[in-house]
Amino acid sequence: AKRQGRNTWQWCRGTQAGDTRHSVTLRHDLHNALAEDQFELYYQPVVDAVSGRIRSTEALVRWHHPSRGMVSPGEFIPLAEQTGQIVPLGRWILRRACQDMVRFNADRERELPVAVNISSLQFHRDGFLADVRQILAETGMPARLLEFEVTESVLLDGTGPVIELMETLKDMGIRVALDDFGTGFSSLSYLRDLPTHKVKLDRSFIKDIQTDRRIAAIVQGVITMAHHMDMCVVAEGIETPEHQDDLARRLCDLLQGYYFARPMPLNALQALSDRLPHH
Ligand code: C2E
Ligand code: CA
Ligand code: CA
Ligand code: CA
Repeated sequence: AKRQGRNTWQWCRGTQAGDTRHSVTLRHDLHNALAEDQFELYYQPVVDAVSGRIRSTEALVRWHHPSRGMVSPGEFIPLAEQTGQIVPLGRWILRRACQDMVRFNADRERELPVAVNISSLQFHRDGFLADVRQILAETGMPARLLEFEVTESVLLDGTGPVIELMETLKDMGIRVALDDFGTGFSSLSYLRDLPTHKVKLDRSFIKDIQTDRRIAAIVQGVITMAHHMDMCVVAEGIETPEHQDDLARRLCDLLQGYYFARPMPLNALQALSDRLPHH
């Protein structure tokens, strides 16, 4: 009944505002997309802030829509969350990321970890842990090479014992990083209680870091604070050498952004990492 209420509301919005007809169609297309094998995972390198050497990757899903071409996850992930499609899609993403990385790491001296974004519905679903265990077993992916990225809202959404779940994952060897850090409101106070090792500074901070002294102060504050709590900091959205210099000077640990590399298919990552020094 709850579900029906939700759909009705969405439908009303869709019929009232013309511009959401687009998303009604997309939502419909999303239903077949998994079965039709229209998704692909891209990988974006995360590099050491000083040396620029690749340290890990983030898996980012892509949808090759048969008529619209590439649809951005910023557009379809929220739809998949609304319809519940994110559960099977999220499972597919995790499985594919593990399969890809096992293959990728097979002939590497130094194995590369992968970060997978986990959405709220997925994280809070009862079967989540069982799915994760099953996928690790089935793919042979070592848990220590897997990291989950969750946003603050994912953690706040839950009625369940979020910290317990994070502890369980940690015991299994899977680390959980806090994504889009700084965009929410309660970040600073509740960081204290979270069993996390890493925060990812949202891209919106980096964009203005050189022109806005308050932003620069927040960034510096987060980095210093995180280090005092033995956490490491990743800055997203590094687009220029100035961004890199600035963040490296502030002792940010890891960087990710178009300046180093865009998200790319697995074979391109393979080609790139063959050319780059990795230790
Ligand atoms: P996110 O987790 O914050 O991912 C980072 C986004 O920033 C990615 O966008 C990436 O392509 C983009 N990005 C990286 N470097 C730069 C840069 O230097 N400049 C700019 N302007 N952008 C940069 P993308 O791939 O379009 O994904 C958007 C969002 O969609 C993600 O934000 C995440 O919230 C969600 N998403 C993507 N893939 C997945 C997935 O597999 N599962 C789930 N649950 N969500 C996903
Ligand atoms: Ca992320
Ligand atoms: Ca992010
Ligand atoms: Ca983001």
